[in-house]
Amino acid sequence: MMVAAPLAARMKQEVMLEATKLRKDFGVQPKLVALLIGNDPVSRTYVELKKNDCAEVGILSEVRDLSSEKFTSSDVIDEIHSLNEDSGVHAVIPQMPFSGKISEEKVFSSLSPDKDVDGLTPFRLGKMIRGEYTLEDSLLPCTPKGVTLLCRYYSIPLEGSEVTIVGRSTLVGEPLRKLLQDLNGTVTCCHTKTRDLLRRLKEADVIIAASGRPPEIYGIDGFRLNSDMVKEGSTVVSVGVRKDPNSGKMLFDVDLPSLKGKCSFLTPNTGGVGVMTRACLLQNTIIAAKQQIGAA
Ligand code: NAP
Repeated sequence: MMVAAPLAARMKQEVMLEATKLRKDFGVQPKLVALLIGNDPVSRTYVELKKNDCAEVGILSEVRDLSSEKFTSSDVIDEIHSLNEDSGVHAVIPQMPFSGKISEEKVFSSLSPDKDVDGLTPFRLGKMIRGEYTLEDSLLPCTPKGVTLLCRYYSIPLEGSEVTIVGRSTLVGEPLRKLLQDLNGTVTCCHTKTRDLLRRLKEADVIIAASGRPPEIYGIDGFRLNSDMVKEGSTVVSVGVRKDPNSGKMLFDVDLPSLKGKCSFLTPNTGGVGVMTRACLLQNTIIAAKQQIGAA
């Protein structure tokens, strides 16, 4: 099982040392501000977890709640402009997904790339697509970076491998396609219009399941990966999750029990990619702070 705990613990330890060094050598305590923009019930939990993570490693943090219906795109943009100007804030993460009336494009275009710790501004995404990045020192999107580091930690063979990603979003699927392709995987991003998803899954050496559409909620338009859909010995990374609004149960893209006997490597539904995403956010906050004060 590709559990994230050992790698995440190592990353957090390094972040803690870096935060201490920044305080001692530069008198700077890195600070992250999370913007709660949508009303997805899981987002509130995520930003609270991020706040706790920051406290653990010596990073200051704050949550600004702009989730109420009364806030418009221009209110959010005003808030972002003031955070861009605030030298005491080194990192800003607008928590996705946003509520329908807030424009993702406007929000990310207004955020300073220097403080963009989820790597989603046009500048950061452009740098990544051009291959102008390193996994260690660049502000890359946290979930794709986390998946990539986890694969590296468990020595998952990517070079020459067939990789199928279920999902093509700007947050997960698309940046992950680029990162895994740069490690010489042959990567296919699938989506709701993919004609023969099953064939692409069965051919894959590595599958990243990131639809977030459980059949319990989406019926026949939903997606859940089980052992009939993969080849023997494949690697499966579980990303997609959605909370059932009725039962409150977390519903995952991956049917873990059915896959256990068939896959060589499998991430747990909890304690896998989510933990890596949070560790990468801490790491990116340090990277951003160091670059801003000229310590990188
Ligand atoms: P998103 O923007 O809704 O994108 C979902 C993608 O999956 C879309 O490209 C969609 O295709 C595709 N898709 C949906 N149903 C499908 C199906 N039945 N067959 C094939 N493809 C299908 O979501 P997201 O932001 O990428 O997030 C994806 C999931 O990952 C969510 O559950 C989210 O909560 C989770 N997530 C987890 C973490 C973590 O740390 N664990 C971090 C980020 C996201 P179309 O493009 O055609 O619509």
